[in-house]
Amino acid sequence: MALLPATSRFAPSPTGEPHPGTLLSALLVWLDARHDGAQALLRLEDVDHTRSTPALAQAMIDGLAWLGLTWDAVVLQSKRRGAHDAAIDELARLGVLYACTCSRKARAGGRRAADGSLIYDNRCRESVLSAAQWRSSPAALRVCLPDGVVQVRDEGGADLSQAPARDLGDPVVRSNNGAIAYMLAVVVDDAADGITRIVRGRDIAPSTATQVALQRMLGYPTPTYRHHPLLLAAEGEKLAKLHGSYPLSHLRAAGLTAPQLCGMLAALMGLTSEATSTSPDALVRDFSWQRVAADDVAVRFDPAQARLLPV
Ligand code: GLU
Ligand code: ZN
Repeated sequence: MALLPATSRFAPSPTGEPHPGTLLSALLVWLDARHDGAQALLRLEDVDHTRSTPALAQAMIDGLAWLGLTWDAVVLQSKRRGAHDAAIDELARLGVLYACTCSRKARAGGRRAADGSLIYDNRCRESVLSAAQWRSSPAALRVCLPDGVVQVRDEGGADLSQAPARDLGDPVVRSNNGAIAYMLAVVVDDAADGITRIVRGRDIAPSTATQVALQRMLGYPTPTYRHHPLLLAAEGEKLAKLHGSYPLSHLRAAGLTAPQLCGMLAALMGLTSEATSTSPDALVRDFSWQRVAADDVAVRFDPAQARLLPV
């Protein structure tokens, strides 16, 4: 029997312009897939309608194409609402869906996870909703996860095992504004897209055990996981769109070209010894995770030289 090709994906949330951190993540997903002859999809996780816009989704598609990244398919998560709702129906049938009416303020005194986020104490578990009830509930909907440790190992060696119900609290699957939550949408879509391999930033690693728990409840296969190092702003924060760090339009306005940026990203990650102009295609043959930096890299952009420099 012939094995089906592996399928990977890059799944950005288009809540801001692409920036060097987004482009680095996309480049690593793409190189990893192309080096191994895997399929690579682009999935725009645009379900948070308070933060994602069609213009930002298009800016993401365009920015990735500008860098030289091509995809086997482009999927909009917002078009999958039927599948997301069907998964919530299934969770309701399993008797694990409940309404959570806690305000964030009411929970503020509670335990915090290592990253500072509040741990939910699962206090609304009694408010179970049936498949006939949840659509008309104005509350946030959560899923009661089984107790116990979910064993997950990152391909890079890190142990991502956690008891998600205890360590993070039951996840929200639909927020009280009606939007499908990331934790559920990502699991449903990875299954729908036949994703067998997930490469993504290290900042998302703490969500993995919760996602594996949801995959098991819904009867989905679990992909392999690899989390890559991040670019950090000079102050040590993740180089995220939230911090307004170097949106691609600013880099381009300063004169940075795609081959230059590709060369800088490759060198910052240790894929090449010098930041000379290159393209994703030119990096495929020699790509290896063994050559990728083990740690996050702090960077700053110097507009005068139009260069992204290590700090
Ligand atoms: N959409 C998520 C984000 O941009 C990442 C999803 C994933 O790779 O699992 O943070
Ligand atoms: Zn609650």
